[in-house]
Amino acid sequence: MEKVNDITTLWRKQFPILTQQVNGKPLVYFDNAATSQKPLRVIQSLSDYYTRYNSNVHRGVHTLSQMATDAFEEARELTASFIHAGEKEEVIFTKGTTDSINLVAQSFGEKFLQAGKEIWISAMEHHANIVPWQMICEKKGAKLKVIPMNREGVLLTEELYQNLSENIALIAVTHVSNSLGTINPVKEIIARAHTFGIPVLVDGAQAVPHMSVNVQELDCDFYCFSAHKMYGPTGIGVLYGKRKWLEAMPPYQGGGDMIETVTFEKTDYNVIPFKFEAGTPHIEGAIGLAEAIRFIQETGIENIEKREQELLHYAMEKLSEIEGITYIGTAPEKAAVISFLIEGAHPYDVGFILDKQGIAVRTGHHCTQPVMQFFDIPGTVRASFAFYNTEEEIGRLAEGIQKAKNMLL
Ligand code: PLP
Repeated sequence: MEKVNDITTLWRKQFPILTQQVNGKPLVYFDNAATSQKPLRVIQSLSDYYTRYNSNVHRGVHTLSQMATDAFEEARELTASFIHAGEKEEVIFTKGTTDSINLVAQSFGEKFLQAGKEIWISAMEHHANIVPWQMICEKKGAKLKVIPMNREGVLLTEELYQNLSENIALIAVTHVSNSLGTINPVKEIIARAHTFGIPVLVDGAQAVPHMSVNVQELDCDFYCFSAHKMYGPTGIGVLYGKRKWLEAMPPYQGGGDMIETVTFEKTDYNVIPFKFEAGTPHIEGAIGLAEAIRFIQETGIENIEKREQELLHYAMEKLSEIEGITYIGTAPEKAAVISFLIEGAHPYDVGFILDKQGIAVRTGHHCTQPVMQFFDIPGTVRASFAFYNTEEEIGRLAEGIQKAKNMLL
């Protein structure tokens, strides 16, 4: 136990934001599913870019531009190896998970979706993996279908498997639910879908920061994630896509960098990944993402996963001492996310009282309104852990909840 605490102290030292007081109390940051905190080295990598080699990428012959281009393309290579992509050209830099999904919905949808075809998503998707599909289905006259779930927050995948057919254009499913914590059996879904030649997109926003992801082993066709949830900067994310799909798909946006030649009559598009990266990219974002990946690799994703599971179990034990808590999302396979309600109290009021004690949790629907509709609740209080959190902080959460109960009930 002491050893773990020593390591945790070392880990925490790298996150300057964690040492501050909020509302006169030491900050307890349990909103990691919304965005994680950033280690100093990631912050420094951004300022290093601006102080030493700020320049535009790809088109310059001068030294600074080459330095920026090298760092940007190195970031792509590192990202590819981090998720075990076969080649770096299969890594497209986007603004984040939402942008990655919109890219596939618009581009893949434009080419491969026709009236009467189906797109399947699941009952626990973030709005980012619902709305883009609704938009393209509406445009194309296609149908959006939903894999249902049970009251534990486990997907009823049989419902999908029984309906698999060549009429399904694509399945888009989250790897880990942000509001329930459920880890979905994406590998099996992909294998079953492929027997009908159906491509699968995985929303990995809540998976990549917490577990080892191997896109070749999963055999997914697309995989999306955001840097800011994995200790990196905001405004940058990744779309992994298999070469065969990315080459077959039309560009999503037009502009500089995504072209080979332009005349007023005709444009020839660049090769992947550039075909999907119109305009000046988020250069320092990619550099910051690469630093975040180095940080994760040095910490060890298996250490992160193990520690977060310990924290999840400890928190469930600690909170079970408090009466009147209902848990939303009790799947056996769960990431370190606890969504709960205190009987008789509105989640917003609980969140407000916790904030006054320096404890940051998220309250509301967590961009998963259909999940809240399914459970017939206005929202939940969500505590989401990162490996830098501690048992002591969980103790403070338990005390805070008790205090909220005393004040509200
Ligand atoms: N998908 C899931 C499962 C998420 O948790 C989130 C963010 O919370 C998103 C997609 C959207 O990510 P971003 O806002 O970084 O695009």
